[in-house]
Amino acid sequence: MAAAAADAAVKVAEIRDLTRIERIGAHSHIRGLGLDDTLEPRQTSQGMVGQLQARRAAGVVLEMIKGGKIAGRAILLAGQPGTGKTAIAMAMAQALGTDTPFTTLAGSEIFSLEMSKTEALTQAFRKSIGIRIKEETEIIEGEVVEIQIDRPATGTGAKVGKLIMKTTEMETIYDLGNKMIESLTKEKIQAGDIITIDKATGKITKLGRSFTRARDYDASGPETRFIQCPEGELQKRKEVIHTVSLHEIDVINSRTQGFLALFSGDTGEIKSEVREQINAKVSEWREEGKADIIPGVLFIDEVHMLDIECFSFLNRALENELAPVVIMATNRGITRIRGTHYSSPHGIPLDLLDRTIIISTSPYDERDIRDILKIRCEEEDCEISDDGLLILTRIGMEASLRYAIQLISLAYLVATRRKGTEITVEDIKKVYTLFLDEVRSTAFLKEYQDQFMF
Ligand code: ATP
Repeated sequence: MAAAAADAAVKVAEIRDLTRIERIGAHSHIRGLGLDDTLEPRQTSQGMVGQLQARRAAGVVLEMIKGGKIAGRAILLAGQPGTGKTAIAMAMAQALGTDTPFTTLAGSEIFSLEMSKTEALTQAFRKSIGIRIKEETEIIEGEVVEIQIDRPATGTGAKVGKLIMKTTEMETIYDLGNKMIESLTKEKIQAGDIITIDKATGKITKLGRSFTRARDYDASGPETRFIQCPEGELQKRKEVIHTVSLHEIDVINSRTQGFLALFSGDTGEIKSEVREQINAKVSEWREEGKADIIPGVLFIDEVHMLDIECFSFLNRALENELAPVVIMATNRGITRIRGTHYSSPHGIPLDLLDRTIIISTSPYDERDIRDILKIRCEEEDCEISDDGLLILTRIGMEASLRYAIQLISLAYLVATRRKGTEITVEDIKKVYTLFLDEVRSTAFLKEYQDQFMF
């Protein structure tokens, strides 16, 4: 299983990058909480602007997380839409290190026909736990004496062969499989080359030409490097480290198509026996010093959309030894807990609220909005005139910050169409009339009620 996980680790890293780019686009300017050494927030730092009280609180919580003092508890960011709740959660994850998994989930996302609510939550939990696997592989270094490749058996396309390799002490014959033959051909390996073979992956790397045999070859080519076969130490050990999430290990080991399921996102429900086996394996690796567990961050936005069953799942899951840091966000005050007739603060049951640290975010003033918009313009590589920024700030105040942020790229498109180099008031006016914000869209719907289906 270690090999399977390690094998997938390389591929998995690529997927993760792709999904991240899409998901965090709106927060790509956030690089941290922007605190100084005494955990005091700077007005503008690391892409963060204002919201000082919440950032200060987040900094304290972060210290608790780093000290491992947050187990069994959750954090709730409560505040109006667009007050930076997601931005703060992202900043916290970034401050924990690039290796720390960060998963986002919107409360409404878990209601799907494809899997049960608890399965969706379990997957989100396990996506937020990183496993850093340390693997030792044996690297053999020596001089190639002879390569024999057999013809493929008809119809199968599979090739087999033998490689005779000489180290200082002895000559050894290695059986070659398809993959190693491909690797030999790709690297144009021939007799007289000094190569290394990674025993775990079968990867062959050419180091150069043998000093003794090189005399028989044309050594004038630029790629030719003379390396004398080193004495003794021909078998080396190398430590390789991969980080994968628990969920990725689950998927690889539960689907016949392995990590391909991760590409398609079609992971389906995973059997609890598979998870139990994996948990056992991971704790075995941990005891043997082969793996470390990195608790990541699970961010649940619109947490009031979860229902009572999900909340009791969360309560239990937080107790688990393998729980990530759970950060929830809501913009609701006192509201009904879904699946019940009871109301509670933020629509969260009291037993969960009891073990929750609440950080509240407050609305921005004009200066903060202007500074956030300015940072977003820089982030999106869009020049904007002073008047343009002023008008955009007004829109941010009156409609919403998120709407104003969205207008940046649209206005820039209009600006470049008219061959302008910066966004002007006229460009903003144009996109403001073309694309409605929520308030104007609602007013429009009300005005033409009869013509819409309700
Ligand atoms: P909702 O309740 O609607 O989910 P939210 O509180 O999570 O909203 P965000 O999505 O974090 O709000 O903020 C909206 C946009 O403004 C994002 O692009 C975010 O990165 C940016 N933003 C919000 N607050 C700040 C801040 N203090 N500094 C820099 N950028 C911010």
